[in-house]
Amino acid sequence: MSKVRTRYAPSPTGKMHVGNLRSALYEFLIAKHAGGDFMLRIEDTDQERFVEGATDIIYRTLDSAGLKHDEGPDKDGGFGPYIQSERMKSGIYMEYAKKLVERGEAYYCFCDKERLDSLKTEIVEGKEIMMYDKHCLSLSKEEVEAKLASGIPFVIRQNIPNEGTTTFHDELYGDISVENAELDDMVLIKSDGYPTYNFANVVDDHTMNITHVVRGNEYLSSAPKYQRLYDAFGWDSPVYIHLPLITDENHKKLSKRSGHASFEDLIAQGFLTDAVVNYIALLGWSPEDNREIFTLNELIWEFDYHRISKSPAVFDIVKLKWMNGEYLKAMDFDKFYEMALPYLRKSITKDYDLKKIAAMVKTRIEIFPDIADHIDFFECVPDYDSSMYAHKKMKTTPETSLEVLRELLPILEEQDDYSNDALYETLSKYVADKGCKNGYVMWPVRTAVSGKQMTPGGATEIMEVLGKEESLARLRAAVAKLDAGQESSL
Ligand code: GLU
Repeated sequence: MSKVRTRYAPSPTGKMHVGNLRSALYEFLIAKHAGGDFMLRIEDTDQERFVEGATDIIYRTLDSAGLKHDEGPDKDGGFGPYIQSERMKSGIYMEYAKKLVERGEAYYCFCDKERLDSLKTEIVEGKEIMMYDKHCLSLSKEEVEAKLASGIPFVIRQNIPNEGTTTFHDELYGDISVENAELDDMVLIKSDGYPTYNFANVVDDHTMNITHVVRGNEYLSSAPKYQRLYDAFGWDSPVYIHLPLITDENHKKLSKRSGHASFEDLIAQGFLTDAVVNYIALLGWSPEDNREIFTLNELIWEFDYHRISKSPAVFDIVKLKWMNGEYLKAMDFDKFYEMALPYLRKSITKDYDLKKIAAMVKTRIEIFPDIADHIDFFECVPDYDSSMYAHKKMKTTPETSLEVLRELLPILEEQDDYSNDALYETLSKYVADKGCKNGYVMWPVRTAVSGKQMTPGGATEIMEVLGKEESLARLRAAVAKLDAGQESSL
């Protein structure tokens, strides 16, 4: 068995979409699972689609996702160059195209735009495809040579017979046969001398010893033409794995509009790289058990490409958020604090102990931007309604709350130690003296110091962060508010 070699072969045309990253990840995992090599090849022969800076995004994304390539433009492994526009300089694509011409599997075509525009088109998978009528196939060798010598622009086309069928194999979809008559004589070498993406892809996968190819199933319709090229050269084709589409919650293709179609968008929204990679691994693949949380190393160990599913994968942002939350819970506190700090600072300008606040929210948020909603009350108490003091289970009402807060105020004014433990002791003692339930006291105190029904910490934890002065100010304001409420209802 030859060494497993996979490649991620992006065209630098923009951001790295979730689907691209999934292909890269699966290619990486297949190689690493088998102790093989993962290669990066830049497919930049389509100069019109080239986007400045897109290659940098590819490097950045692979690097931050931990998908280290063993070979690539920046890491020679003996199969270079790894950028197609550079490979082209050696004449490799033209050389192979000419081999096909010699074998009658390809031919020169000199038709101009006008003639091509006049040809019939067919709708294939919603796209208008021109079916070339093999006009130039009938040119004699001499005619071709004369046209070449006189410098008439040309392309080289694949020669696909009108009869018969072509069968190719995909790991997920099995054997697929198509009528040759449905396949157009696609261009292999364009008039600018560049190979088409499809042709360069085949030549490179073969000459770079690629064993497994993972890509989106939008390429499935080109696969028979690839197969014919492999057969024409007498090469074995790599194992093909065409992945099902990734859809949004409405089963529509994941698009830019959904706002989370690209890796960089997700990171900008506050998702963790590890969680995104973990989640993407599960978009079409599942392990034997129901396990969902995997580090990259665990994925390498577990990843069996035979378990990739061909049903469409739904990108579920709610699930990704949940997963992100699991990563935050498991994260080492110091690292969490460092990453949370910019978000904490955005919400809090006062001189509070941000570490304590971070500890309170760590297990409660799913993504960092959630922090704001949890901690806004530290900065100032929101405008809340006195009815919040009424809690059935705690058996509290605005009236009982007013009584409790009034009684507690002088006790808390006396106290200097505002640590969580000391405050808790004080309140517990008060509870015991009063002979009531904990919540009967804790609920009004927490409401008074936060103005919120849900807070990341208990009453005394919050007071510890606020400190004596601010805690008392909030308790007094609450008493005044409840007092005013009672008077107005008299
Ligand atoms: N260059 C193609 C793309 O960016 C890669 C297709 C393939 O992996 O074969 O979509």
